[in-house]
Amino acid sequence: MKLLFDPPAPIFASTSTGERFPVRRVFCVGRNYAAHAREMGRDPDREPPFFFTAWAETVVLSGATIAYPPQTSDFQYEGELVVALGKSGRNIPVNEAPSYVWGYACGLDMTRRDLQLEARKQGRPWDTGKNVEQSSPLGMIQKSGGFDPNKGTIRLTVNGVTKQEADLADMIWPVADIVSYLSSLYRLEPGDLIFTGTPAGVGPVVTGDQITVTIQGLEPLSVRVGPPAE
Ligand code: MN
Repeated sequence: MKLLFDPPAPIFASTSTGERFPVRRVFCVGRNYAAHAREMGRDPDREPPFFFTAWAETVVLSGATIAYPPQTSDFQYEGELVVALGKSGRNIPVNEAPSYVWGYACGLDMTRRDLQLEARKQGRPWDTGKNVEQSSPLGMIQKSGGFDPNKGTIRLTVNGVTKQEADLADMIWPVADIVSYLSSLYRLEPGDLIFTGTPAGVGPVVTGDQITVTIQGLEPLSVRVGPPAE
């Protein structure tokens, strides 16, 4: 078979076992913390969380410098717990969901907020706001076992100043519920990542900022915001 051009190289995330985790798809949960739903002008008691997606190629690893993307003047951080799946399954019961999880990592759902909010206002898809090159920074994936995704502090700092701080227990949909629900919509596959939503305190960054996400029990994630994309 003769290819017209080389296919893109997959993203290989790093893991606590030293093996590489090939990223397949990126699913994201929107408004999974009540306080963040409220800061975005929504009532979490009336509107449950929901899913959106991003290309696998938006994933970049900790230590990267990410370009400030074009067509925005409001590029924002969202610190999140990421679930990395290791098994294929559909219609997974909540109580079996943990056995489909390979591990957990710190993540960032970087957002062109101005484009996202304009899309939201117009009732259009979020893609140009959310699915942006280098917009899914991912820390080292810690193999599950010993880490409890249902409690523990999640914190995001910009240049050392705390901007987001919450407890994983504040998630509206806990991890097992997310995996179960998502598996009713799609057959989940090994390599899939789920960004589980961000707590309150989202805000803009500028070129030169250092963003760090820490979650108790996981390797921290840190990226720098670089100059505009070429
Ligand atoms: Mn998010």
